[in-house]
Amino acid sequence: MNCEKCGEHMNPEESFQHAGQTLCEDCYMDVMTAPKACDPWAVHTAKDMTGNEFTLTSTQQKVLDLITNNGPLTAEEICNQLSPDIS
Ligand SMILES: [Zn+2]
Repeated sequence: MNCEKCGEHMNPEESFQHAGQTLCEDCYMDVMTAPKACDPWAVHTAKDMTGNEFTLTSTQQKVLDLITNNGPLTAEEICNQLSPDIS
């Protein structure tokens, strides 16, 4: 059988089901780790800390800078802005 994402041949016992697709291990890992590029918790905590003196992670600092410079943003907008920087 073949992976539905990259087309690689794979053994059925090495296949993974995700969102109705049969994926090889590599593609499955890609899919499962991709959402972590956007960290809603970092956004949330950065918002909470606005105006307070805390040591922020680099991600939180970026979120804070975005909010400071661009005004209120949804978590999705912030994640879209940050995602190129987070791998
Ligand atoms: Zn694949």
